[in-house]
Amino acid sequence: MSHQEALKSPPRQDLEQSTRPESYRAKRLPGIAYDSVPASLKDSVIEPGDPTYSRVRSTFFRGGAPGIVFQTRHTGQVVEAVKFARSHTHLPLAIRSGGHGIRGRSTNDGGIVIDLSRTAKIEVLDPSTQLVRIEPGARWMDVAATLGPLGWALSSGDSGAVGVGGLATAGGIGLLGRAYGLTIDRLRAVELVLADGSVVRASDKENPDLFWAVRGAGSHFGIATSFELQAAEVRNVGWAQMVFDAGNIAGFLEKWGGIVESSPRDLTSFLILSPPRLGQPAIAFVMTVINSDNSKTIEDRLEPIVSMAPMFDQRVEITSYASIMANAHVGQNSGVGEPVSRSGSVEHITPDFAAAAARLLRSGVTYFFQIRSMGGAIADVPVEATAFGSRSANFEVTAGGTSRERLDESWDSMKGFFCGLYLSFDTDPRPERVRSAFPPSTLERLRALKLRYDPGNLFRDNLFLEPRRPQR
Ligand SMILES: Cc1cc2nc3c(=O)[nH]c(=O)nc-3n(C[C@H](O)[C@H](O)[C@H](O)COP(=O)(O)OP(=O)(O)OC[C@H]3O[C@@H](n4cnc5c(N)ncnc54)[C@H](O)[C@@H]3O)c2cc1C
Repeated sequence: MSHQEALKSPPRQDLEQSTRPESYRAKRLPGIAYDSVPASLKDSVIEPGDPTYSRVRSTFFRGGAPGIVFQTRHTGQVVEAVKFARSHTHLPLAIRSGGHGIRGRSTNDGGIVIDLSRTAKIEVLDPSTQLVRIEPGARWMDVAATLGPLGWALSSGDSGAVGVGGLATAGGIGLLGRAYGLTIDRLRAVELVLADGSVVRASDKENPDLFWAVRGAGSHFGIATSFELQAAEVRNVGWAQMVFDAGNIAGFLEKWGGIVESSPRDLTSFLILSPPRLGQPAIAFVMTVINSDNSKTIEDRLEPIVSMAPMFDQRVEITSYASIMANAHVGQNSGVGEPVSRSGSVEHITPDFAAAAARLLRSGVTYFFQIRSMGGAIADVPVEATAFGSRSANFEVTAGGTSRERLDESWDSMKGFFCGLYLSFDTDPRPERVRSAFPPSTLERLRALKLRYDPGNLFRDNLFLEPRRPQR
């Protein structure tokens, strides 16, 4: 059934009881009208009693136990699933593409999940403009593997297993970011299923307000069922992986930050710092991509990085972007518990910020600390052009912890350093965090659009975005 047909009040037919034995029905949760699932959605339903339920209940980072999962196969089914969700607004609703959300909100307990992982097609629409159409369930490693042989690439993130849907609606801070911008900066159009069940296309010309909102806050406005993105022409790149002694944590961070900021935009560098343990120094793992296949250029760009601190190990190669992205394995998502992670965007790694980061690492509050470089082409886009909040930041900082209270205490004490946060890396449930994610004028516009497109707040698995008229 096409989505147009699905929208015309389709004849409803109960899930046949014969297809759901009593043992399945016994595991059904109260508050879900399982028997009113329309026949057109039948082949997408996974209930707690289904043998495949264990494969879809959790995400990569978070355990969950939803009451019903719709693993949709086309836009018409997404429309039907949205209608079903609208008749169950007392329950949480989660939208899932790759299930790799660090926030872990693409599952829930006792609610509804609309899972788009089965829609994962990647196709070229126009070879002359490198325009590609990608469905939300595709993984970025598959996108890179498809585009690579054409001499193209789309900067996504540092893990190939991440899904297209979650990343392309939030931002996409990737290893080619300083050269080509955020992933959303290459977005040219998107198909969305809205809260009222309508299917719309958004681009600069069609529903431009929605297109603006999707690029940074997409998950609050609808379910993206396909993306049109313009790939960049990318040849082989320089790929350096280096491990340093970062015993002087603050000094190391400051040096790395200064080098990255003063490097040409063909260089993008990500850093992971492990806290000092058992008398050993802190260890820094630095991943750097140079968007060039010229060995002299690569050498020149890496020269200041190599001499930053004593090095334990290094590997430098000229390789394809696709081979860098083939760095993960997509298996069954079996996360447990609640992830705890905080994000902050900083403009510069100042001595004060570096010292505060060093204190955080030494405190033992964080077991995972990563900084991704931004700037370059990301900063070329004016902040008001998209809903992404942190255009002026040169760095995105993420810290993972085990205790929410302890991490909050440290992170809150550092808030003076931050000019924003990246929604995808922050699990803080406090509603006021939305004010850190978006600048005031962006937030006001988002709230007004929320009132227009989703006044009932159906799409709320991410940060709370209150539907509200602009304050005059
Ligand atoms: C190991 C790892 C490394 C990462 N590295 C980076 C990085 O370098 N750069 C970066 O930018 N990000 C990075 N991320 C974060 C990642 O981009 C986000 O967590 C993203 O949301 C994951 O997308 P997904 O589709 O796999 O997630 P899901 O868990 O499926 O979805 C996450 C959320 O996105 C929204 N969403 C999902 N699909 C749709 C859709 N079709 N329409 C509307 N909303 C939707 C929902 O709110 C959902 O709760 C990383 C994540 C992991 C796990």
